Amino acid sequence: MAFEGLTSKLQQTFKKLKNKGKLTEKDVKDAMREVKLAMLEADVNYKVVKDFVNSVSERAVGQEVMESLTPAQHVIKIVNEELINLMGKNESKLNISPVPPTVIMFVGLQGAGKTTMAGKLALYLKKHSKKPMLVAADVYRPAAIKQLQVLGSQIDVPVFSLGDKINPVDIAKAGIENAKKSGCDYVIIDTAGRLHIDEELMNELINIKNSVTPNEILLVIDAMTGQDAVNVAEQFNNSLDITGAILTKLDGDTRGGAAISVKAVTGKPIKFVGIGEKLTDIEVFYPDRMASRILG
Ligand code: GDP
Repeated sequence: MAFEGLTSKLQQTFKKLKNKGKLTEKDVKDAMREVKLAMLEADVNYKVVKDFVNSVSERAVGQEVMESLTPAQHVIKIVNEELINLMGKNESKLNISPVPPTVIMFVGLQGAGKTTMAGKLALYLKKHSKKPMLVAADVYRPAAIKQLQVLGSQIDVPVFSLGDKINPVDIAKAGIENAKKSGCDYVIIDTAGRLHIDEELMNELINIKNSVTPNEILLVIDAMTGQDAVNVAEQFNNSLDITGAILTKLDGDTRGGAAISVKAVTGKPIKFVGIGEKLTDIEVFYPDRMASRILG
């Protein structure tokens, strides 16, 4: 599971503090040096780590320790609160269109888990009494359309496709019209990914965005790619002004840094996480629960 390395390193650091009665400024400083190293090793973005450690240090040294807490508990409490702040405080709900359907555009690099996540989100919405439709707008990757159709039939959700000879912008528009006619209240558009970000990919996504004005542009990123996931998020956000991110493969032995860095670097929240290959392996991203998981 994600964060193993980070969790055990943080616990070791806090254990050392627990053996001390009163903490000096040097104790806090030493502990923060260790926290900094542990976070860097977990692939948290460098600037994020620096700001984080500074805020924790300032509060840990400056604040009165509550009577009910030991000095070590006081530091842990601050680390926990600052981690939650970093990841966005509260969960971020989906932006809903006042007039259905709500249009959600999925973007991301190939292999990030975009198509799988489109199926997972559709199933999640269905379980919450919504009527989603999937739209197959990835006309480049062989078998992408088929993959979405197979997913759709597994979860009994309609999949709109016009094959791979039609422009993705037209597919997206026609998909939304079709959803309106069939009374679907959510449209999830699965767009093409590439191995690397290139201008052509971004231009196509910008064209789709401009012609369907989605309520959500969710970037699907692979937690296993560590620092790269955050760089990808920054680039997609600069071009598309995404509304949020979805982090996949958090079940693997990823070091987890992306979960901590994405919000701080892009200003955009993580809304869901993928925690396995099954279609039920989707969770809402709760910053407080994630912080507890990290602290172990
Ligand atoms: P796309 O190219 O972005 O559409 O990626 P796919 O949806 O085809 O997924 C690529 C691979 O990642 C597939 O083998 C998926 O089963 C796998 N995958 C997707 N999400 C997860 C996840 O949350 N955990 C794990 N372990 N594997 C995942």
